[in-house]
Amino acid sequence: MTQSPETLRAKIRQRLSFYEDLGLAPFYRDRAIRRQTDATSTTSTSPIADEEETLPKPSSASFLGAQHAGPQLGTIPPSSKSLPVLEPTSPSFFASLKRIENDSLLRIREDLGECTRCKLHKKRNHIVFADGNPNADLVFVGEGPGADEDATGIPFVGRAGKLLTQMIEAMGLERQDVYICNVVKCRPPENRQPEPDEVTTCSPYLVRQLEVVNPKVIVCLGATAAQTILETTQGISKFRGQWQDFRGKKLLATYHPAYLLRNPAAKADVWKDLQKVMAELGLQVKKNKSA
Ligand code: URA
Repeated sequence: MTQSPETLRAKIRQRLSFYEDLGLAPFYRDRAIRRQTDATSTTSTSPIADEEETLPKPSSASFLGAQHAGPQLGTIPPSSKSLPVLEPTSPSFFASLKRIENDSLLRIREDLGECTRCKLHKKRNHIVFADGNPNADLVFVGEGPGADEDATGIPFVGRAGKLLTQMIEAMGLERQDVYICNVVKCRPPENRQPEPDEVTTCSPYLVRQLEVVNPKVIVCLGATAAQTILETTQGISKFRGQWQDFRGKKLLATYHPAYLLRNPAAKADVWKDLQKVMAELGLQVKKNKSA
């Protein structure tokens, strides 16, 4: 559907402000994010092509100083074969989970039913199962629903969710291209962290979701998702931005968007992490010949 000039302008403004938050400036009109596989095509008929041409050069040097600058997109090689492995702190719980023959997202949702397996069900309004593309190459895993998600039944629709959507769009993707889910499916009261019994009860459904979607890359948003899936108690800052293995899939942990709302300076680290993911998925910032 063709977008009105006002809608395009609003989208451009929103995206530029995200880049400004990242500290990415000045802006160049001659860059566009696009799939690397598309790199031979020189023109685009997409109605959002004009918007994309306003995307900035994703250089971290301009705001961090050259000595701290992250590698430029396009120069980041896909990850090497040897992935850092975090040892589970105790015998792996997930390893003991049997793969379910012919499992499907529908079946997982049906198995969850109107779940009362843990105490989180008592105060929830909606079970928040997932959003996005069931065949996605990229899955984002968060911690658990907040108030907006509990009210709508859709993950990441509140303030943190809007920032996540901006992050996805900065990667040259749309929200509906990726799959988004959480460790726990019901909102913890007062947005507290999910407790261990809640995580243990709910996470097998997450593992089944990850098996069925079978993405190329899993991005864990924040410590709860990362520590749960990797079965580690190590602090996220120890392994953030480093490729890990989860059941044969590449996994990268980065900071949670809610953390970024409180600590905008950390957006630069997250952008570096997302660039690694983009390189892995063959998503690239197009370098225009006239640059
Ligand atoms: N934070 C999360 O971790 N998940 C959501 O769905 C929303 C906010």
